[in-house]
Amino acid sequence: MPRPRTYRVEAVVLRRIDFGEADRVLVLYTRERGKLPVVAKGVRRMSSRMAGHLELFTQSELMLAKGANLDVVTQAETRNAFRPVREDLTRTSTAYLIAELADALTEEAMEQPELFDLLTATLRALGTTDDPRLVAAHYQLRLLDVAGFRPVLMQCVSCHADLEPGRNAFSAYLGGALCPRCGPGEPSARPIDTDVLKVLRNLQRAGLPGSAHFRVPEMVMREVERILRDLIERHTERRLRSPDLLARLRSDPAFGPAQVSDSVGSPTPEDSVDAKDPAAPPSPVESKL
Ligand SMILES: [Zn+2]
Repeated sequence: MPRPRTYRVEAVVLRRIDFGEADRVLVLYTRERGKLPVVAKGVRRMSSRMAGHLELFTQSELMLAKGANLDVVTQAETRNAFRPVREDLTRTSTAYLIAELADALTEEAMEQPELFDLLTATLRALGTTDDPRLVAAHYQLRLLDVAGFRPVLMQCVSCHADLEPGRNAFSAYLGGALCPRCGPGEPSARPIDTDVLKVLRNLQRAGLPGSAHFRVPEMVMREVERILRDLIERHTERRLRSPDLLARLRSDPAFGPAQVSDSVGSPTPEDSVDAKDPAAPPSPVESKL
């Protein structure tokens, strides 16, 4: 049986890279095939009918055609544009972060429908919550979980003793909390406040924070965010991902080296999530992280 020439996926757009005259590589997270880079031809033209359905963090249903290397989008239809997220700057930058982290913590060709569901549920919740930071923190803990890096919060990550409230520590390097006996001897550990540990545990246990969620004091929230950032950095090799994709395009007979120049990937303003130029000032997304 030959492979089907075309197939349908439900996808969220995680990242976009411009190339050629009017084309784009899209990194999708799909329900059916996990993370999937594809090509969308002509979407940067004003006349493109697909462009509106392929915005960052839009959930769309796509038809894809087999390419020699990257598959090509032939049809796109929006399922959810997450409008409330786009109408507010804090929510928008949180959505950038959500998309960026899903890209950073996943590999291609690993299908995880639960991650697709987490992404779409988080983007929906982000549109209605009055606390985007809490939604983002919950997402990061669940993402670590789905990616196989669930932090240990109930027992000591070193000796496995149940943790009591008190002088505990936390090590992102070891991936969890440490008891008062193990903490002091571990160079990568830092003290963790009991309230911070409590919030992390609640978020790890709970569903998405709704409107009646708990209030987290600013100092505690900052520490929660710092720990999540450390955990994610530990598991993400900050690799430059676009050259890899572009190398694959260059070797694709449908595009060829002539079309894929080095000017590709220059980010458009709304694509600040793509900006990885070390000389550039940190984007609002990265400084938030
Ligand atoms: Zn211990």
